[in-house]
Amino acid sequence: MAYTKESIKQVVNEEKVEFIRLEFTDMLGDTKNVELPIEELETVLENEAMFDSSSISGFSDIQESDMYLYPDPDTFLILPQEMDEDPIARFICDIYTPDGEPFEGDPRYILKRAMKEAHDLGYTVNVGPEPEFFLFKLNDEGYPVRKMNDRAGYFDASPKDKGDNVRRDIVRTLKKIGFEMEASHHEVAKGQHEINFRFDEMLKTADNIQTFKNVVKDVATNHEYHATFMPKPVTADNGSGMHCHLSLFQDGDSAFYDNGTEDEISQTMKHFMAGILHHANGIAAITNPNVNSYKRLVPGYEAPVSRAWSHSNRSCMIRVPTTRGLGTRFEVRNPDPTANPYLALAVLIQAGLEGIRNKMDPGEAESRNLYEVTDDSVPTLPTNLKEALSALKKDKVLMDALGEHTSRVYIEEKEEEWTTYSLQVSQWELDHYMSK
Ligand code: GLN
Ligand code: MG
Ligand code: MG
Ligand code: MG
Repeated sequence: MAYTKESIKQVVNEEKVEFIRLEFTDMLGDTKNVELPIEELETVLENEAMFDSSSISGFSDIQESDMYLYPDPDTFLILPQEMDEDPIARFICDIYTPDGEPFEGDPRYILKRAMKEAHDLGYTVNVGPEPEFFLFKLNDEGYPVRKMNDRAGYFDASPKDKGDNVRRDIVRTLKKIGFEMEASHHEVAKGQHEINFRFDEMLKTADNIQTFKNVVKDVATNHEYHATFMPKPVTADNGSGMHCHLSLFQDGDSAFYDNGTEDEISQTMKHFMAGILHHANGIAAITNPNVNSYKRLVPGYEAPVSRAWSHSNRSCMIRVPTTRGLGTRFEVRNPDPTANPYLALAVLIQAGLEGIRNKMDPGEAESRNLYEVTDDSVPTLPTNLKEALSALKKDKVLMDALGEHTSRVYIEEKEEEWTTYSLQVSQWELDHYMSK
């Protein structure tokens, strides 16, 4: 249902809402919010809510720090009790400058720009994400400790699976706020879980990913667990990915399905995949945004290592599931759930569209298990954040996708993160080298 100012005021009255929460996402992918009392509703709906952005990551490097929050009426909802006892209305907002221009460092704006490029070419891009997460126990002070919530594995049932009731509560909560929920299950690693919700157009999906992560964290806390989306929290066990299933529609029909070809996938889909594969190393700097991300992208844990595509092989960055017709799609397997979903989808889609424009060729589908291929016949994904950042810097398509402001500030921030990390002396080094 599309909300208008009038219908929002009506719901707010009926539900006796006391506060308005205005949310947005910073450059690093964290949800930020500011709360206003309900008396400010008119100000909020007239796009007059101002804030000082000078301490927000990715926003701070600008002359003008006063920014405006424009609430997107499509994101209006009353937060469920599981998230807050009080009746609170929430909006996801776009960031505008005092001149009434969209702020070019707003991740949501960067994704909207990619969406417009797709629309201009006549395409609607749908994305179905599969975020995975771990549940860790809390200590007496409420801080997470390095103990998983259970010792179960893939699809295990209760009582081995001690997260089933948490997952059910997450699903219930998300249904209350309009999510169309799909399957949920225990994942491969101990304490690891997955819950799926229905695909949607890319902007809606990016908003949904942020809301999903917040709900998962809140509900886990209600159960006295800590939920983490960290990509590789446990050495030598599966990490958490956020596979993204992409499909393209044109005039209401799949642009990826073609029943006239042997594998029933269209040239458009091949070009789109080729664009993503071609730009993969730079894309990784956004979809796998931290030093820990690269500890997941290693052989043996169902995460991809190769810049290749395949019909079934999970060691490839792109896998094409068997579904055809309207469900024809491919799964990009390297993204992880710490990525800023707006930026991640923006670079994936801009790279894919570039593939279509240049009629790029992804080559033949890979059928080997690439974990076992040791020669360099298949290109690999970056093995650390530094490599990914160097690739990003050289990739004009991706730098343009992010825009001048965000590409510059992001690379500065992430290079510093890499440097700080590289200077740390770890326990592993002490264990191995102290006896020298
Ligand atoms: N956890 C795996 C990853 O890191 C995926 C496992 C799966 O969903 N089958 O991508
Ligand atoms: Mg899955
Ligand atoms: Mg999974
Ligand atoms: Mg998957």
